[in-house]
Amino acid sequence: MAVINCPGCKKKTSDKAIECSHCGLSLQALDSDKIANLNHVNRINQAQRLMTYSFVAMLLFCGGFLFMFWDNVEQGTWQHNLAMASTVVGFILYIIIRIRLLFFKRKK
Ligand SMILES: [Zn+2]
Repeated sequence: MAVINCPGCKKKTSDKAIECSHCGLSLQALDSDKIANLNHVNRINQAQRLMTYSFVAMLLFCGGFLFMFWDNVEQGTWQHNLAMASTVVGFILYIIIRIRLLFFKRKK
C-alpha cells in the first residue's frame, strides 16, 4: 500500500482506496484525462486565490496609506502606528504575492 496525493484535494490518501477519504473523489474511475482536468481546475483556483490575496494586500496598503495622510493623524499615536504597520505589511505582502503569481504563471 502506498500513500498518494489525491488529485482532487491534494491530501494524502491510500492508492488502494476506492475513493478519497477526505473529499470522496472516486480514485478508481480516474483516468489521465480527468486528472489533467482536475489539475487544470486546481491551477485556476490557486491563481484566483493568489489574486484575491494580492487584492487584500493592496487594500491593506492603500487603507493604511490613505489613513495616514488623509486623516492627518499625529505621529506616535496607535492609529498612526497601525496605519504605518498596515501600509508596510500590505506592501510587503503585495510584492511577495505578485512574485509568487509570476512564478506560478511561468511554471506549466
Ligand atoms: Zn481528496
